[in-house]
Amino acid sequence: MEQYQGKTIFNKIAIGKVFFYQKRETQVKRQHIENAETEIVRFDAAKKTALAQLDQIYEKALQEVGADNAAVFAVHKMMMEDEDYLDSVYNMIRGELINAEYAVAATGDNFAKMFAQMDDAYMQARAADVRDISERLIAVLSGSGTIAGTLAGSRTGSAAGTENVAGTGIVTEIDADTDIGNRTGTGTDMLASDEPVILMADDLAPSETVQMDKSRILAFVTRRGSSNSHTAILARSMNIPAVIGIDIREEWAGKTAIVDGYTGTVIIDPDAATLEQMSAKMLDDERRQQLLKELRGKETITRSGKKIHLYANIGSVSDVAQVLENDGEGIGLFRSEFLYLESDTFPTEEEQFKAYKMVAQNMAGKKVIVRTLDIGADKQADYFHLEKEDNPAMGYRAIRICLDQQEIFRTQLRALLRASAFGNISIMFPMIISVQEVLESKRILEEVKTELREQNIPYKDVEVGIMIETPAAVWISEELAKEVDFFSIGTNDLTQYTLAIDRQNPKLDSIYDPHHPAVLRSIRMVIENGHRGGAWVGICGELGADTSLTETFVEMGIDELSVSPSFILPVREAVRKLS
Ligand code: PEP
Ligand code: MG
Repeated sequence: MEQYQGKTIFNKIAIGKVFFYQKRETQVKRQHIENAETEIVRFDAAKKTALAQLDQIYEKALQEVGADNAAVFAVHKMMMEDEDYLDSVYNMIRGELINAEYAVAATGDNFAKMFAQMDDAYMQARAADVRDISERLIAVLSGSGTIAGTLAGSRTGSAAGTENVAGTGIVTEIDADTDIGNRTGTGTDMLASDEPVILMADDLAPSETVQMDKSRILAFVTRRGSSNSHTAILARSMNIPAVIGIDIREEWAGKTAIVDGYTGTVIIDPDAATLEQMSAKMLDDERRQQLLKELRGKETITRSGKKIHLYANIGSVSDVAQVLENDGEGIGLFRSEFLYLESDTFPTEEEQFKAYKMVAQNMAGKKVIVRTLDIGADKQADYFHLEKEDNPAMGYRAIRICLDQQEIFRTQLRALLRASAFGNISIMFPMIISVQEVLESKRILEEVKTELREQNIPYKDVEVGIMIETPAAVWISEELAKEVDFFSIGTNDLTQYTLAIDRQNPKLDSIYDPHHPAVLRSIRMVIENGHRGGAWVGICGELGADTSLTETFVEMGIDELSVSPSFILPVREAVRKLS
C-alpha cells in the first residue's frame, strides 16, 4: 500500500481501478523531399504496418469489448484505404515534394474538417476517426511505432458512431510558412471496459474533460492543474471526486486505488483494513447526502424570512438532470462555451437552439441564465484559430471576441432568443469592463430581435445581465446596473484579476484567496451599487458555494447564489440555519 498527498478539488470518496490517460503530442515538420516516388514507397510501407496494427487491435477489442465496439477498427481500416484519402496524400507528396508525415497531417486535417461540416451526425462523428488514422500513420512514419495518446492498460476504441469520445481533435493548424506543424491532441480513446475507473492524467484541458463519458469516471487524479481551473470546476459540477498535485505513475494502471477527496489523499493498493475503513467513510458520505435530500422541495430561506434564489451552474444539457435531482431553483450560469468546446467546429444556430431549448423546457419555466460565449484563456477550441498570447487571461476572449466577430455572437443570440419562446431564458454577457460593451451587446441583441420579428420567428423578452468579474466592472457597477436587469459576480475571475494571481497557476494556488478582504469588499460594493441602480445581484463563482461565507453574503444583501448542482442542498441547509 502506498499513500500520496495532493490537493483536493471535490469532497467525495472513490474506490476503483486506475486508468491512465495520456495525451499524444507530436510535431510534424514540413520537409522538402527530392524524390516523390521513394517517399510514396515509404508511405505505403507505413500504411501496411498501420493496417496490421489495426488488425491486431480489432482482434483484441473483439475479445474484450465485443463485435459492436470493435467495429470502429474495421472502419479505420476502410478509411485508411479510401481512394480519396490516399489520392490526397499522394498528390501532395508528388505535387509539393513534401514529406509523407506532413502530407498525412494536412490530409487528415482537411478530411476531418470536411466531415465535421456535414449535416449528418454519423458523418460528423467520422472526423475523429480520420484524425485517428492520420495520427496512427504519422506515428508509424516517424518511427514511434504505435500511436501515442493511448490509455495505458488496454487501449481499445470507441464504437463506430459513438459520441462518447475521450478526446478532441488532433491536428492543429499547420503553418506552411514556418514549415512546422504542431499537432497535439488526445485521440478518440475510450475506456476499455464499462467498469468505471479512476482516471489519472498529467493534466486535463477543459475540452478533454467535457467530452469524457462521466458515467465511467469515478475520480480524477492529476499531476498538474489548479483548484480554480475550469477542469476543476467541471469535476465539481460532474460530482466527481478529484485530487491534483499527485506524482502519478504509469505502473499504477490497473491497480486498485482510493481517492479521498476530503483529505486530498490517494492510496494505491490499499490493504484490507484501509479498504474497509474507507468504504465505511464512503457509506457515511452517502448517508449525509441522503439526509441532505430531505431538503429537497424546501425553501431556501433564513429563519427571519429572507429568501435567497438558489440556482445551479451547468456546462451542458446533460447537467440539468443533476440540477433537478438536487432541486435547483433555476440555472444561474449555463457556461455556453462548453457547447463550443465539445464540438470540432462552430456549433450551428440549430444545434445551439436545440440545446438551449432543451434546458429551458426541462427547467419547466424556472429561470435559465445562459452566459454568452466565454471562450479564450484556458478554454480553447482549435477552430477559433486564436493566436497564442502572452497573457491569455487578459487577452482576446469572451465578449471581446463576440463584439469583434459579430457573426459568431449573432448566431448565438438568435439561437438563444428562439429558445426563449420555450421557457424562461435570461442572457448574460461575460468579462464586461465598460458601459460601452454593454450598450453594444444590447444593441446587437435588439438587432437580432428585429430580424426575428421580421421573419415571424417567436421569442420572449429576456432579462439581460452581466458578469462582474473584473475590478473595472466593480468600480463602475452603479453605472452598469442602470443598463441591465441583473449582475452575477464571477468570483473565480474577480479573485484572479483583483489579486493579480493567475487562477491556472498551481504554484500560486496557496495565495489565490477568494476570502481576501479586497474580494469581499468588492462583492459588498457590487451588491450595494447593483441595488442602487435597480439590478438584482447574485454570485455564480465557486465562492457562492462556500458555506463559511453564506451568512456574510446574506448579510451583504445577496439575492441569488448559483452553485454546482452538488452544492445546492448544502447551501440550502446553510441558509436555513441563519437567523
Ligand atoms: C467566474 O469567473 O467566477 C465564473 C463564474 O466564470 P468562469 O469560472 O467560467 O470563468
Ligand atoms: Mg469567469
